[in-house]
Formats: sequence, C-alpha cells, structure tokens
Amino acid sequence: MNDSLNGSPDIGRLYVISGPSGVGKSSIVDAVLEARGAAFSVSATTRDSRPGEDDGVDYHFVTQEEFEVMVQHNELLEWARYGGHLYGTPRRPIEDHLGQGRDVILDIENEGARQVKDAMPEAVAVFVLPPSLEELERRLRSRGDTSDADIERRLAVAERQIDEAPSVYDWLVVNDDLDTAIEHMLDLIP
Ligand code: ADP
Ligand code: 5GP
Repeated sequence: MNDSLNGSPDIGRLYVISGPSGVGKSSIVDAVLEARGAAFSVSATTRDSRPGEDDGVDYHFVTQEEFEVMVQHNELLEWARYGGHLYGTPRRPIEDHLGQGRDVILDIENEGARQVKDAMPEAVAVFVLPPSLEELERRLRSRGDTSDADIERRLAVAERQIDEAPSVYDWLVVNDDLDTAIEHMLDLIP
C-alpha cells in the first residue's frame, strides 16, 4: 500500500473501526456505511460462518491453507490471529476503492489496526469501548451465536484490547446508547 493513497482530495480515506467482539461494531459500521456510502472491507477468515453471515459479504470464509497462500502472495494488507483463527484484510479491493475516491472502513482487531497505522499513518483509527465489561458480556450472550467457552475467551481478550487501545487508536468512542455512538462516529468520518 502506498502512503500517498491517503491525504489527496481525489482519493478515499481509510478508517479502522475496532473494539472488543460484541461491543456493537457491526451495528455502528452498518449505520456509517449507509450514511456515508463508504465501502466495507470484507476480511478473509478461517473461522466458521455464524448464522446469518454470508460468504463474500460478511467475510471470505477460507481454509487455513487458502489463508496461508494469501499471506505468501502478499495479498493481505494486514493479518492477525484472534480467538484461535486467522483474520486478514485483502489489499487489492482497498487500493481499488481508495483509488476511485471511495472511503473504506475496516472492522479489525488491535494487532491489525497497529499494522495498518504503521503502513498508512493517515488512516483514522477508532476504538469502540463498552460502557462496562458486564454490559459487554450481556451483549455477547444476547447475540446467542457463540459458545460459553468462546465468550469467556473473548472477554479475556477484550480486557487486554481495552488496555492497549490508547496506544494504538486516534479516537475512542463509548457505545452506551447506540444512536449517540453512531453520531460520534459520524463526526469522526465526515
Ligand atoms: P460486534 O460487531 O462488535 O461484535 P454487534 O454489532 O454484533 O457487535 O453487537 C453485539 C450485540 O449487542 C448485538 O446483539 C447488538 O444488537 C447489541 N448492541 C449493539 N450496540 C448496542 C447498544 N448500544 N446497546 C445495547 N445493545 C447493543
Ligand atoms: P468476529 O469473529 O467476532 O467476526 O471477529 C473477531 C475479531 O476479529 C474482531 O475484533 C474483528 O474486528 C477482527 N477482525 C475481523 N476481520 C479482521 C481482519 O481482516 N484483520 C484483523 N486483524 N482482525 C479482523
């Protein structure tokens, strides 16, 4: 990725929206995509699809072997391991969208956000915080698509992510009331 892709009026801007699993990123990102007409970066992942998720829309669901080939061919802008699975951002669609003047939104975890900020310091990185860890657990359970063991793992990871966030992100947005959080996010994504 060429650093000069961000910052010119003719090209789009790259936005990273991160936060613990279950904090409400998808809810916020969906609203921002609709309001701003931005493109969503569809990640590749080795995890199984959840009910309601579509291949090629929510994620590209790939095997570990397919993911490793993408890494070897330098097809990923960043990638990281999360909850025992691999996740990565395909480079090509992002370059295409930015080159066409379209903003792009990435929903990725901390390690990936750090890699993107290293490669493209002009990217704007926002971390979504839960009002409390208890509320985060409630939202994870209410989604009803993840096992107890997975929820425990995600909560432990969430605590670490929240501790790291101030050193990685440009902005922090608390998702207490969803509409208020969306407004704050739209202020950051003009
Ligand atoms: P993420 O994409 O961060 O994993 P989701 O957007 O899937 O999170 O949200 C997790 C759950 O929390 C969903 O059931 C969603 O409807 C709910 N949720 C999102 N934002 C709020 C909020 N501000 N208050 C209460 N529930 C919320
Ligand atoms: P989930 O399995 O709940 O969809 O996502 C788990 C975590 O992986 C979330 O924090 C999400 O932001 C992150 N994630 C999704 N796609 C990518 C990606 O392409 N790269 C990185 N580094 N993280 C990702």
